[in-house]
Amino acid sequence: MSRVESLIGRMTLTEKLGQLTMTACGQAVTGPTIAGDSTEAIKSGAIGNLLNIVGAENVHEMQRLAVQESRLGIPLLIGYDVIHGHRILFPIPLGETAAFDPELWASSARESAMEAAADGLAVTFAPMLDVARDPRWGRSAEGPGEDPLVGARIAEAKVRGFQGASLSHADSLAAVAKHYCAYGSVTAGRDYAPVDISERTLHEVHIAPFIAAISAGVAAIMPAFTDLNGVPMTANRALLQDWLRGRLGFDGVIISDYNAIAELIRHGIAADLPEAAALALKAGVDVDMMSDAYRNGLPVALKRGAVSVAEIDEAVRRVLILKERLGLFDDPYRRGKTRESAAALTNRRRVARTIATRSIVMLKNAGDTLPLASSARRVAVLGPLADASAEMRGVWWGAAAPEGHVTVLQALRAALPHVEVSHAEGVAIESPDSNGIATAVNQCVTANAIILCLGEAAVMSGEASSRAHLGLPGIQRRLAEAVFAQAGRSSTPVIVILFSGRPLIVPWLVERADAVLAAWFLGSEAGNALADVITGRHSPSGRTPMTWPRAMGQVPVFFSERPSGRPFDRNDRFTSKYLDVANDPLFPFGFGLTYGRFELANLRLSSGAIGINDTLTVRVDVANRGARDAQETVFLFTHDKLASVSRPKLELKGFAKISLPPGASGTVTLALRGAELRFLGIDLEPVFEPGEVEILVGPCADRAQLLTATIQLVHAPA
Ligand code: BGC
Repeated sequence: MSRVESLIGRMTLTEKLGQLTMTACGQAVTGPTIAGDSTEAIKSGAIGNLLNIVGAENVHEMQRLAVQESRLGIPLLIGYDVIHGHRILFPIPLGETAAFDPELWASSARESAMEAAADGLAVTFAPMLDVARDPRWGRSAEGPGEDPLVGARIAEAKVRGFQGASLSHADSLAAVAKHYCAYGSVTAGRDYAPVDISERTLHEVHIAPFIAAISAGVAAIMPAFTDLNGVPMTANRALLQDWLRGRLGFDGVIISDYNAIAELIRHGIAADLPEAAALALKAGVDVDMMSDAYRNGLPVALKRGAVSVAEIDEAVRRVLILKERLGLFDDPYRRGKTRESAAALTNRRRVARTIATRSIVMLKNAGDTLPLASSARRVAVLGPLADASAEMRGVWWGAAAPEGHVTVLQALRAALPHVEVSHAEGVAIESPDSNGIATAVNQCVTANAIILCLGEAAVMSGEASSRAHLGLPGIQRRLAEAVFAQAGRSSTPVIVILFSGRPLIVPWLVERADAVLAAWFLGSEAGNALADVITGRHSPSGRTPMTWPRAMGQVPVFFSERPSGRPFDRNDRFTSKYLDVANDPLFPFGFGLTYGRFELANLRLSSGAIGINDTLTVRVDVANRGARDAQETVFLFTHDKLASVSRPKLELKGFAKISLPPGASGTVTLALRGAELRFLGIDLEPVFEPGEVEILVGPCADRAQLLTATIQLVHAPA
């Protein structure tokens, strides 16, 4: 008999429920305070898994209790939110998505896994794969942005990076894809609010990244807190048991979100904890994070006949198999045994800097304001985010200390030793105090260039951080207006660095600034990455993974909208538009400038017709007509013009990057499989319909900038 089956055969009900329970260990980030209760519960086998504990010694001590002092000696699963780094931080996920580079996405996950595993951890609650089209939702910061294909590519890269070559390796973490499903569509962008979307949108948009995660071998999945069309995901049997396990064949562990099982009572679908526990277990949730619903509720549910021992055993089996796959039975202390070398940390910083540099999106660069002129002798670095180390960390700072994350001011002083770099905060991120504005404005008087660092605090995005006004918080606009007024007198260029966990709605700022860099939150190497771009050491190459609206009234705004029967026509009142704002966004999906000047030409297809099993090769020539090295991103979209179901005006099918020195040109090649041109028919089953499909290639989701060609979809000859 296998180890797992023999253990199940020997376990008491309490021990089984312990394996289905995950409890926080004091929640302290800088050093855990271990609740006495957890200690006793681990020894008695009543708790089999932990979260929120860091440090190899602490983790090993907990493991020791489980392995040496509990009756069956089953090791613990110990998880943590290693979202964009552990101690050394990478850009927030939305920011990193802007790099549009799967190898970089995988490398930050690999580095994070090595660092967290060296801290004794075995599970990360990542990647977050929630497609987000409403920037009010603070958790947009944690995910892949607005497009499902991008979400799918991120899923593959992250699972590969976190889980490494084998889950049993001492530097691998089990990944938990979350939050299944459609959490990004919370009503009005308000966190935890209900989700009500069509089956079509669910399957076309929100499930796609999870399918990719499963294909990549993700170890676990976390259902969303939220409901979906009335059924909370934690109790959603149709989508967990039937779809995830049945249809997609997912045989890993399903871990509830924090207290989500108990919250089924507040959702109004369970009368008490035993009923909540029974609903979750029957839906397929194996591990109860923080509700104590399985420990306390399932014994009662069993007596009521609401669940069976076989169902409990099924969940226990999956948890034990994961522990086995992680190598925990063979050596529970394998993670955190050896300290990482100084060289490993130096290399991690280097990777963090590269990724941060690639994640910066240049939104404006009037008159080649950037890179900074080498003649500049005095630079004023102003604003509340210019020297804010802790803010650079972004939304999920894991176990990172508040200090040690390079700021713009520190980096520019180091990068420009012969330039006088002055600094004033001007205003705080969010405070009515305007006393510092005058000092900041004074520094503009003699400056040759002004770098104005504005935006959100890191905690203004992420969980429970929805915002209804997406302008600059506090009185930062007053600071900016005063700086623009002073700079205008001497024609001094103003470069705005905008920090945020989402697209902000700041058309006035973009209008007034000479250059704008979207910096998201770039992590531990933020300042160095920004200095690399500002000084011209690297050309910016990031592209926005979410559309930037002009006005809140446009939200949700995203590129893959379906056509209207009354498409926009300025001269026809009865067409789809606003009376008071344009339809088009401030910046479309994929937008981002570089220091090069790219021209795309000569779009060519390997064939004029393809069948479902064929692959179309799409080629386009790219020339850098600018004066600097730069990297261009090329997106491949399609539009199925006539189908049984109205298809989006643009659907993303691929992307690629090409780096070119000045004057050089090259060819970008993208592949498109016929099967990728299937869509969900009227009955929501995939169909491949013959007919004409437009192929559109270019630098962003602005149709006017895309080269187009058409192909015929054909059925294979019988
Ligand atoms: C979040 C999850 C996270 C979990 C554990 C919850 O509040 O929604 O994303 O993994 O806490 O920290």
